[in-house]
Amino acid sequence: MDAAMPVDTDSLLEKMRHYWGYDRFRPLQREAMEAVLADRDSVVVMPTGGGKSLCYQVPSLCKPGLAVVISPLISLMKDQVDALTACGVQAACVNSTVPVAEKRRAAEGVREGWLKLLYLAPERLVTDRTLDFLQSANVSFLAIDEAHCISEWGHDFRPEYRQLKVLRDRFPNLAIHCYTATATEQVRHDIARQLELRNHDLLVGSFDRPNLSFQVQRRADRLSQIREVLNRHRGESGIIYCIRRADVEEIAAQLNSLGYNARPYHAGLSDVQRKTNQEDFIQDRVETIVATVAFGMGIDKPNVRYVVHAGMPKSLENYQQESGRAGRDGLQSECVLLYSSGDLMLWKRMLDDLPPEAQAPAMASLDALDKFCVSVTCRHQALVGYFGQTLESDTCQACDVCLGEVEMIPDALVVGQKILSCVVRLNERFGADYTAKVLNGSKDKRILEMRHDQLSTYGLLTDHPVSAIRDWIEQLVGQSMLAKTGEYNTLAVTQLGWQVLKGEVEPKLIKSRPQSSSTSARAAKLTDDWAGVDRGLFDDLRELRKAEAEKQAVPAYVVFGDATLRDLARLRPTTIPSFRRVKGVGEKRCLDFGPQFTQRISHYCQQHELTTDLDPAPFVQSPEPGPSSPAFKAFDLFREGLPVAEVAQRLERAESTTFGYLADFIRHERVTDPAPWVEPKVLPQIEAAAEACGLERLKPIFEHLDQSVPYEAIRIVTACLRNR
Ligand code: ADP
Repeated sequence: MDAAMPVDTDSLLEKMRHYWGYDRFRPLQREAMEAVLADRDSVVVMPTGGGKSLCYQVPSLCKPGLAVVISPLISLMKDQVDALTACGVQAACVNSTVPVAEKRRAAEGVREGWLKLLYLAPERLVTDRTLDFLQSANVSFLAIDEAHCISEWGHDFRPEYRQLKVLRDRFPNLAIHCYTATATEQVRHDIARQLELRNHDLLVGSFDRPNLSFQVQRRADRLSQIREVLNRHRGESGIIYCIRRADVEEIAAQLNSLGYNARPYHAGLSDVQRKTNQEDFIQDRVETIVATVAFGMGIDKPNVRYVVHAGMPKSLENYQQESGRAGRDGLQSECVLLYSSGDLMLWKRMLDDLPPEAQAPAMASLDALDKFCVSVTCRHQALVGYFGQTLESDTCQACDVCLGEVEMIPDALVVGQKILSCVVRLNERFGADYTAKVLNGSKDKRILEMRHDQLSTYGLLTDHPVSAIRDWIEQLVGQSMLAKTGEYNTLAVTQLGWQVLKGEVEPKLIKSRPQSSSTSARAAKLTDDWAGVDRGLFDDLRELRKAEAEKQAVPAYVVFGDATLRDLARLRPTTIPSFRRVKGVGEKRCLDFGPQFTQRISHYCQQHELTTDLDPAPFVQSPEPGPSSPAFKAFDLFREGLPVAEVAQRLERAESTTFGYLADFIRHERVTDPAPWVEPKVLPQIEAAAEACGLERLKPIFEHLDQSVPYEAIRIVTACLRNR
């Protein structure tokens, strides 16, 4: 096709609306789809969750013939095909797990021309049999997913991808389109070279993931730090990554004994056990998966709301990939990394086992990660900066640095020198705990026995708690100014450390802010996407989604994504036309699920006296995140104990919307006392009625009180009672 030939963007939008229920392109999707329509080879680089799949799926519907998609993992293919089928797109995959009858039907679909997308693993595609078959078929284009697997420079090289070199020869007239989230230029060049792309379009999106909030904490009380995150996400899915299997087992067991719903995943479990745990996570039967890095590749679950690294990953590339598994659906999600110099040392030791030529790049990646942990620049900026991009704004309002959760100490050079001189005075024979106590001026028996209270450095940091000094020691280790040596991790001053002592180099030492302010800022941020959503209805619809998914043996998100489910609980459509207008519904899903969902919504809204069939217009623009967002400001005002009417007035919002913010506030901050927002005389009445009727539903309480108390008051009191 002539490269200058105009392409029909309207038809792309029309298909996207019809099948997926989306009415707007994400950044670069239009360009990527147009390259497909115009038969220009392309390399498309977008971050995870950027919407790469649609870039080839939508145009495949606008072109005659079959699009062949090469994908590395069987599980990914199956999920993609399930999702496409749910949207009404004719798609199939052929691999060793697919029953013969299904394979036959797919072949029929190719021959008869109704199959639009065929997913294949590279090793199957390059067999002569498959190549011959496809050469005789009407193939419209070739799409290569996870295209970085072809490059040895990528983090996930797969030798079988190398065989794809035959494609150019075998299909000289077909365009080849490559998709990856891996950013380096070297990998991009390699992809184009290996596949002999011709004058290809190179489309590189921003690697930033604005819906992810990042936080780095020094690992102290691991379990409490993990629980703090989990408590912000009750009922939601998340992953906890560990370095070792033993940690996976331990954390999973600890969480379960505390009443969380967690499962382990690592290579030491049986295949059956691993598969069950993974399936249960994907199907939303289990909330948290505690895993080694063996978990994740091949998992497309879009509603992962948090990723915690309980141990440090081995590189910044790995961190980007693993943390990137959060929030693929674009909703607010958080990534928390717990770092420790012990892990850093562990990785360094492991690098020694690598062949010499691999050591330097691996060390550079590890160093980059270490810098990321101890630096005080915006985490979003640091991540995209590593991949050669810059963000326009200096502050993302979505990381611990920009949310003001980390702060540098002003006198880091002096504090650093005090610590290092103490290590020298102790003849480099003691560990971090002991050194911190000496600096703090502890009367520990051992210190007195060793007469270290006589040292000139004893009590030099007496104004600071031992835990803070301990933190700074770790930070100095992280910045290679101190080293942990020998069997007992005794501290030694490095060459760089000596430069600090001479005042030639200044360390950076971070002081942690009190947790309460940080968690509330974070919690408020996470509620932005919930504005206007009735949580009870959302939970109800989630149950319905799960039941429908189980009936069809597909993952819950194939029925509807969380973003659509939240929109349903926000707009509350009770008729098919208003259901159809919700983003992410599409024609087929409207037919398949419209009746059940609208019925459930009607029923719930009647019971809870909620308005239905709201106009989507005010919600089209998603609420602006960050401290300027109304939810965020509302939290501050509620914290001051202001009544709803006043908060509503100050924010210039309707009272009903403000009540929604208050409900989120109560849930997130675990408020137990409704006093600031409920009249004192009705409070005991509601509590007594709740005692009699239970907390499940509001209507019985409302009836019990002879309909004399407003629903909103009942809602607030029951929300607080649930937190008790
Ligand atoms: P990637 O392959 O880049 O990680 P996906 O193709 O899986 O991303 O898309 C991530 C999510 O975003 C999916 O749930 C997808 O349906 C959704 N999505 C993609 N494009 C759009 C769009 N234009 N509008 C709304 N949602 C979209």
